[in-house]
Amino acid sequence: MRTSQKLRKVFGVKTQKILALCLALLLFLQLPASFLNTADVFAVSQADIDEQQDKLDELNTKKNDLEAELEALEEQKASNLEKKELLDEQVSLTQEQIDTTNEQITQYEGLIADKELEIQDLEKQEAKQLELYKERVRAMEERGSISYYSILFGASSFSDLLSRLDFINEIMEYDEMIYNQLIEAREATQNAKAELEATKAELETKKSELETLKAELDTQISEVSSIITAIQSDITEYENLVNEAEEEANAVQEQINSLSEQLKAQNEPANNAASGGSSDGTTTPVYSGDGTYIWPTASKYITSPYGNRLHPILGYYRYHSGIDIGGGGGNPVMAAAAGTVIISQWSDSYGYYVVIDHGNSTTLYAHMSRLNVSVGQYVNQGDTVGNVGSTGLSTGNHLHFEISINDSRIDPLTQFDSSTYIKAW
Ligand SMILES: [Zn+2]
Repeated sequence: MRTSQKLRKVFGVKTQKILALCLALLLFLQLPASFLNTADVFAVSQADIDEQQDKLDELNTKKNDLEAELEALEEQKASNLEKKELLDEQVSLTQEQIDTTNEQITQYEGLIADKELEIQDLEKQEAKQLELYKERVRAMEERGSISYYSILFGASSFSDLLSRLDFINEIMEYDEMIYNQLIEAREATQNAKAELEATKAELETKKSELETLKAELDTQISEVSSIITAIQSDITEYENLVNEAEEEANAVQEQINSLSEQLKAQNEPANNAASGGSSDGTTTPVYSGDGTYIWPTASKYITSPYGNRLHPILGYYRYHSGIDIGGGGGNPVMAAAAGTVIISQWSDSYGYYVVIDHGNSTTLYAHMSRLNVSVGQYVNQGDTVGNVGSTGLSTGNHLHFEISINDSRIDPLTQFDSSTYIKAW
């Protein structure tokens, strides 16, 4: 089955990706240890960044392969569902034909039974008339020697004799008529038999046609069944992917919360040292923490709101952790507020994503085509953190944007004037 091959390919790529993700997580998990070293918090060298970027480029290629496979799988699923619909129609039509032919067979069987009764009746008549004729001949023979004598010599007059002779003629004519009727009955029986045989032959042709039809139907049904099974397993696998992605997204949120807390705790004593930082990635973190955000990309179209929404692939309602800003593939993604980059990496669900800590809040930018900042880097409001893409579990170019205030996700739209954005629904 082609779909299972596709799936195997998809999961092959995915396994590699999970390994890469684990590496990324290992790097990530080493971070808390560096908090102990207060002087070098989030300090990264250019070589580290380059190395990371190479890894990310490699992951991006693998990720694009996976995305193409998933897309092909989706298309295949859609075409299989169409095929199944057509086969279902065919199956129901053929079943209708079978039912109709079965009705006809029943009708023919009734006709055959009628004809058989007719034949039996005619055969009985034939036998009866043969018996009757035999009796009559026997009687004539018996009477022959005696009767002719009594007729000739028993006649009281010539006219009496003539009438007696007429009577004999009538008997002879009657016997002849019976004989002719016997022949007719035999011929009728033979015709009935011939008709019956023709009907039977027709019926047999119909039966064999029906059997061929049934065999074809059985083949089609088994084909449909295996397609349905394949589709069902595809759907299950895909659902597992989405569930994994959701779990991963929740884990990411927990990491964001813990990182942001650590950063806050660590920053507290050095608060008075805050000064405007540059974007070269090595300056002391400074937090805006003022809760004012700028719109993070050029596109103004919200294609999917925060909260419960109809999932574009699964077709049922699931929680949506942010807003989707549609279109504008390749456009810069801008930091909504100044802050420190606490996450800049790959995720199966978010693709290439960045999280910036702003003090009391964090912002998340997902599905980007590339990453433009590194962990520990300080960014000013409006700095480019990446570019709009469709990486991770995404069906097209869009920016998935989240805001968390005091460790809880909020509806990002509550932070913007309604003139800032356009709802695409
Ligand atoms: Zn989204």
